[in-house]
Amino acid sequence: MPGRIKDEDIATVRETARIDEVIGAYVTLRNAGGGNMKGLCPFHDEKSPSFNVTPSRGMYHCFGCNAGGDVIKFVMEMDGLSFTETVERLAEKVGVPLRYEDGPGPARNSGGPQRPRLVEAHKLAAAYYADQLATPEAMQARQFLDTRGFDQDAAAHFGVGFSPRGGEDLTRHLKQLGFSEAELVAAGVSGQGGRGLYDRFRGRLMWPIRDSSGDVIGFGARRIFDDDRIEAKYLNTSETPIYKKSQVLYGIDLARREIATASQAVIVEGYTDVMAAHLAGVKTAVATCGTAFGDDHARVIRRLLQDHDEFRGEVIFTFDGDAAGQKAAMRAFEGDQNFAGQTYVAVAADGLDPCDLRLQQGDAAVRDLVASRVPLYRFVLGNVVARYDLDRADGRIDALREAAKLVTAIRDRSKVDAFARELAGMLGIDPNDVQREVRRAASRSSGAAVAAPPQQRPDVGLPDARDPKYVLERETLKLVVQRPGIIGNLLAEVTEDAFTHPAYRAVWAVVTLAGGVAAADEQWTARLQANTADERVHSLLSALSVEQVMTSKEPDAAYAAQHVHRLREVAAMRRIEDLKSKLQRTNPIDDQLEYNRMFGELVALEQHRRQLRELALDSTS
Ligand SMILES: [Zn+2]
Repeated sequence: MPGRIKDEDIATVRETARIDEVIGAYVTLRNAGGGNMKGLCPFHDEKSPSFNVTPSRGMYHCFGCNAGGDVIKFVMEMDGLSFTETVERLAEKVGVPLRYEDGPGPARNSGGPQRPRLVEAHKLAAAYYADQLATPEAMQARQFLDTRGFDQDAAAHFGVGFSPRGGEDLTRHLKQLGFSEAELVAAGVSGQGGRGLYDRFRGRLMWPIRDSSGDVIGFGARRIFDDDRIEAKYLNTSETPIYKKSQVLYGIDLARREIATASQAVIVEGYTDVMAAHLAGVKTAVATCGTAFGDDHARVIRRLLQDHDEFRGEVIFTFDGDAAGQKAAMRAFEGDQNFAGQTYVAVAADGLDPCDLRLQQGDAAVRDLVASRVPLYRFVLGNVVARYDLDRADGRIDALREAAKLVTAIRDRSKVDAFARELAGMLGIDPNDVQREVRRAASRSSGAAVAAPPQQRPDVGLPDARDPKYVLERETLKLVVQRPGIIGNLLAEVTEDAFTHPAYRAVWAVVTLAGGVAAADEQWTARLQANTADERVHSLLSALSVEQVMTSKEPDAAYAAQHVHRLREVAAMRRIEDLKSKLQRTNPIDDQLEYNRMFGELVALEQHRRQLRELALDSTS
């Protein structure tokens, strides 16, 4: 059986197979101006064309049914082929010879002759980075650890290190130890540049990531220098034959045994949280590396918790109290339901992550946090309900509708009644009314499923392209996807909260995951797609890459600046509104200190907003 097709060959096929020609074999495409082509969608019935193809970006998107993707996706969907079959077929058509990874397929323990070499390279790289942590150049890295409450022993226990800023120090070191360039690139520790190999990680604090057997298979790297030209706060090893981010859990080597014996796994959000939890005595803590906790991670944990055929034990997520954390909880809730039943959430009262919690309140507070867990379903329902004003009748009804939809999503029917009762308690509504609404929501969702054609994608949660409320967010993201070159250096201070629609936030998160706009290259759109498994985000990304920008001229840096500054200004305005409302609810006499602090913050924010306004105006002139 042949193994997996090499990634670079897949990329070559994607680039060589012209999307307009491939799609043109199924759909008549006409020029629609601006480098776009249009036709009648092959995935849904329509009379006027809403199916768009942008050959320069190799993407298609239908604004009618939200089908979208690259040339490979199109053939897969059209002809019902697997990914591999599709790539093989396209490769034959365009004459790209394919090479396969050694070994029987993509399984992560597939071994193959390479694995020992790649693991060896990582082991030596980790030792090298650890040594570098003592150098004068690494002072800021040591300070970072220090301010997070980690001493030398802690750093040594977790093997934390530092990657020099030089650019090729590690590459040179490993070459001297006999590694070939091909091995270093395959391992992901070096990159192939125009003038030879360069170190993939430069001037960063380094965490070695180990598999459960203790082999180092990758690295997590945190930005510590302000002039680091890669903006992403964290970089991780990209996919390699030994590193699959959908399965990797940081800390699993240390936590594995404890998870099995304690029948408990604690999922935290980052490297420092794993360290803090373990040092505080919570030795079952692990974290995903640069990606959300997904089904593959769940399988890894389940394998450890598995006792005979039965899945026992608790999986406890320490989500941030913030929106991102709540979204993560929702995702877990919508995932594997067996898993959801055993899933708990622990949120510190003041929203602190385990690292900060340990720093501010000590080891015991971290252990207490884990002990204070609540069932996931209660946490999620609580979040939904909290969005509504329960003092008003219409607020309670809206909350009920929203929450009832969630309750119907629970596949385990035996739990539905209990959840409905719990919901009634939260809302202060008669349990019978809740049961009725849950049944209504259930019949609505099954009715919709029958009415929709089978290939129709669910468009729930996708923003309307013309909604004026989100036009600015959409236009900015279009530039991010289509014109990273003109917008890249404007985005340094743009954060997730510039985007208010959850779907746009999700796109921004994918951009960040893909290394930020500064990391954009010819593979940019493909890389964005590769950084999410969420169908809706896939669809939105294809829409953003084919939709025309809203200027008749070629968009330039000034056009991008106008949007980014305005986006930031609007975000500042939102923060001002929030702060004003908080001020109104604060008693200036009882709470004088807090009141003055907020007032000072408001003044500063107003000034910041005015500056952004001026910047936006400057860029229009
Ligand atoms: Zn369509």
